[in-house]
This record gives sequence, C-alpha cells and structure tokens, in this order.
Amino acid sequence: MTRTVDVPLSEIVPTEEALVRALGGTPDQAAGDRVRRLLGDALDELRALAEPRGIFAEVDAREFAGIYEGAGDNEDPSPLLEIFARGDSIALFAVTVGAPLSDRIAALFDAGEPALGATLDAAASEGTELAGAHLDRLVLSEAREEGTANAATRVLRYSPGYCGWNITGQRALFAALGPEEIGIRLTESCLMEPLKSISGVMVMGPAEVHEFESDYRFCSDCRTKICRSRIRALKTRDPEGDDDGDPGHDRR
Ligand code: SF4
Repeated sequence: MTRTVDVPLSEIVPTEEALVRALGGTPDQAAGDRVRRLLGDALDELRALAEPRGIFAEVDAREFAGIYEGAGDNEDPSPLLEIFARGDSIALFAVTVGAPLSDRIAALFDAGEPALGATLDAAASEGTELAGAHLDRLVLSEAREEGTANAATRVLRYSPGYCGWNITGQRALFAALGPEEIGIRLTESCLMEPLKSISGVMVMGPAEVHEFESDYRFCSDCRTKICRSRIRALKTRDPEGDDDGDPGHDRR
C-alpha cells in the first residue's frame, strides 16, 4: 500500500550549527554578526517556503529485484544487490521540501544574492535529508508497533545514482511508487524536480544487513566513501531516538 505523509516543518529545520557544517564551516565561523544574520535569514526562508512531503510503499524482495534491475544499467556486483535480499523488509520512498524553495534559490542567484542563495540551498538540502530521516523514524516506529521490527532493527536508505545503482533506475522506481502524487516529477535525464527531493529504497533489518566492504569496481572513483560512516552510525544509534538525520547518500 502506498502512503503519503506531510512532514512536520519542525522536523526539517536544521540547527545553525548543522547549517554551518553543511556549508563547509566550523561552529566558530557562525559567531560573526553578518554570518549569523545570513543563517537566520536562510532558516526563516526555509520555514516560510518549505512544503515537506513524503511517500512510501512497502514491496517484497522479488518486486524490488525487478525495480532495481530497471533498464539493466546497474553495476554488477553492487552493494544494494546483496543488501536488499538480506533485509527484513523493504520500502520504496521519496521526499521533497517542495518547489517554492527551489524557485526561491534560483531567484536569489538571478538577483545577484549568491550568499543568501547558497545558504538557502544548503539549508534546503539539509531539510530534505531531515525529511528523509523523519520518514525513516516513521516507518521504523510503525514496523515496531506492528511487531515486524524490534529494538535491533535499523533502516538505511539507498538511492539511484549511487554505489552502482544507475540513475536510470529512477524510471522503474517512479513507475512503481508514483512520487508525482507529492509533486515530484522525473526529467528526461532522470533528475528530480523539485531538485530538493530524495528517492530510493529503505532497507530494514539488523545493522549487520547493511555491512559490506567498499571494494567494488566503482569505489575507486568515490570521493566521499560515505558508506563507511553510514554503516558505523547504524551500530551506535537508534534512528527513532535520533533527530540529527542520517548521513544520507543523496545530498543535493
Ligand atoms: S566507497 Fe563510495 S561508491 Fe563505494 S560503496 Fe562506499 S559510498 Fe558507495
């Protein structure tokens, strides 16, 4: 069954500290009046313009195998190909913070206000990731209530365009999930509009389910190696009790 949810605005507004980190700075760099004003203005705009929504649908491993296969463009082997079969349950998902934010970011750059534009862009990316983290907690807490997950269950998101899942996988994902219902559409080149959106699959299971060695052919080109911190974080925290968000794949 496919479900849509309105994500509470309070869940998607990052702290000033997180926003400074997202901009590549350190907390002491937020001390100046000008920077503090910029951060405050960007967070005010985020609160005023964000329309955070999510959609998700549970699928079984066989269904997901067909969706993952897509047009046959994925790397083989790839981490997700191993992981989803080991998971206890799988859900397709998409989240967005809405079109008005992306429009406002573009307008700020067009109007020659790159500082606020870049800060709002970073705030919107953080907000999108926090919306994804909200969905993680929601899906996990419902699974625990239903008895299909327990205290050791963890959830991790994987997105087309990363770690061997070809970006063209968006087409099969969209066909199965229908994120158009929450205002996300796919372009010819498989980018999402609004840009501040994340889509993919949530895999639930014990932390060990998500473990793998990052020695795939394509890993040598990877700048972030973010899988390492994602896997480490799973072992140290319960997403239901953590509102700091997952170090997500898909920061836009
Ligand atoms: S090293 Fe990079 S490309 Fe390889 S699995 Fe990890 S995040 Fe993905």
